Amino acid sequence: MELKVLNKETDYHSGYGAGSGEIIRVTYACPCGKSEVVFEKDDIPGFRDSSTICECQECSSKYDFNRGTATIK
Ligand SMILES: [Zn+2]
Repeated sequence: MELKVLNKETDYHSGYGAGSGEIIRVTYACPCGKSEVVFEKDDIPGFRDSSTICECQECSSKYDFNRGTATIK
């Protein structure tokens, strides 16, 4: 299932000594529509990470989230 994008923002990050980077944050509507799913990607030299967090208890127990996609468990 494709999630609907609610908001997308990019924050500048001065980095951890290996140059500057950015943090990308995309907010999606969760499958039930009552809450949100937040995808965060750190794109900073020497520190690259990404996570998808569902703030909805109901949906996080039903689905696996990967960026803008929800998959039934
Ligand atoms: Zn939900």
